[in-house]
Amino acid sequence: MDIVNKTLAELSHLFREKKLSSREITDAFIHEIEKHDKKLNCFVTKTFDLAREMADASDSRRKNNKLISPLDGMPITLKDVVCTHGIRTTASSNILKDFVPPYNATVWKKLQDAGVVLLGKTNTDEFTMGASTETSAFGVTRNPHDPTRVAGGSSGGSTAAVAANFCAGSIGTDTGGSIRQPAHFCGVTGLKVTYGRVSRWGTIPMASSLDTVGPIAKTAEDCAMILQTIAGKDELDATTPDQKVPNYLDEIKSKVSGLRIGIPKEYFIDGIDDDVREVVNSAKEILQGLGAEIVNISLPHTKYAVPTYYIIAPCEISANMARFDGIRFGSGKHEKTIEEIYTQTRESGLGDEVKRRILIGTYALSAGYYDAFYRKAQKVRTLIKQDFDKAFEKVDAILTPVAPTPAFKIGKNTTDPLRMYLEDIFTIAASLAGICGISLPMGKSEVGELPIGIQILGPAFHEGRVLRIAHQIQKTIQT
Ligand code: GLN
Repeated sequence: MDIVNKTLAELSHLFREKKLSSREITDAFIHEIEKHDKKLNCFVTKTFDLAREMADASDSRRKNNKLISPLDGMPITLKDVVCTHGIRTTASSNILKDFVPPYNATVWKKLQDAGVVLLGKTNTDEFTMGASTETSAFGVTRNPHDPTRVAGGSSGGSTAAVAANFCAGSIGTDTGGSIRQPAHFCGVTGLKVTYGRVSRWGTIPMASSLDTVGPIAKTAEDCAMILQTIAGKDELDATTPDQKVPNYLDEIKSKVSGLRIGIPKEYFIDGIDDDVREVVNSAKEILQGLGAEIVNISLPHTKYAVPTYYIIAPCEISANMARFDGIRFGSGKHEKTIEEIYTQTRESGLGDEVKRRILIGTYALSAGYYDAFYRKAQKVRTLIKQDFDKAFEKVDAILTPVAPTPAFKIGKNTTDPLRMYLEDIFTIAASLAGICGISLPMGKSEVGELPIGIQILGPAFHEGRVLRIAHQIQKTIQT
């Protein structure tokens, strides 16, 4: 039986039916990783011994009829910003290359408690700052569909690992598009949850008012399975509200007929590939065929999203990165003065993109500039959020492209940060508004057969709705 190309839902079913053991599933993924990861570089750290141990434990639970959850025995990976007790967690940065957390992130604790198997920690842009996984201190992750191209970022290690059949699912983070854009580049499904839906405790932060943690897998159904386990209030993260976690797996079964789907004209600008336009059009037709109504809408402040984000995010980054000073984090033991400790640690420990953002953020927050940059950006952020509030009075969800093009060549944008920032043009507004959205594969480019996804955005705490639309589309494409 071909194991590794199955969905998480299928594997979970086969495991419960006793057609496959967790150890067999785990070994099949390990075999695949050993064969192909040299080329793709999805992993910063592999945890195969632990994985086999966890798989055996799951098999004995099955033997004793003590399975804990639908994820029991299922091999997954974690983006290397999710802190794992006793397992190195680097944020793909030199400054944390030897950091072994003394605690677990809530998301990992919940998954562990659900019985999952950990295959390893996946590559990311350094501290998740980037859109191509090229800023990692551990080398670029290559796109499984064309290894001369990037996997996207920053959760590129996770999306490439799912696409390459290295794991049944993964956990990524999305601050401005880091789950959705690499999912589109790699041809997998990724969910950016509402801000606060999943605890961020123990996940190395980038920009704290924007960071979210979410699932990446082959299908929306698989993402729903993972979300079911990781969503909910956490005493350790004050931004997680005490809001009921619905039954996502039930919710995705509902039809989409009668739903109103908005198409915002601002997302179809010059410079997007014809292939990308066509793929969105075919999604529109599928949704109409399923009985949804398509409504043209406007989100007038969209054009300010990228500049607004690239003020707010660096400001928060400059505050969050202050702890990497050679004393609290990073090793400054060989220097004498405090200034030497700071400069030496940061000079050698951090890459250019991280330094650039610390500088921009520190500048924008400094006396005299705070009002001109940070406060103004916060006001525009409110306008962007209000655009969505108004749109969701008229429509149930919004359909857009994920990024202007399919995966680009490695190196194409590395010397031009502004070009790299424009990668986020269709994902950032939803991050600023704090709403949820899913990226799912929908077609292929004519040249090079590269995956192209679509994005479906929903109101805050309506993950069930976007998962349901994505699931119904995926069911239609399959049959
Ligand atoms: N590409 C965006 C950035 O570099 C988004 C990153 C993210 O979501 N972590 O800021």
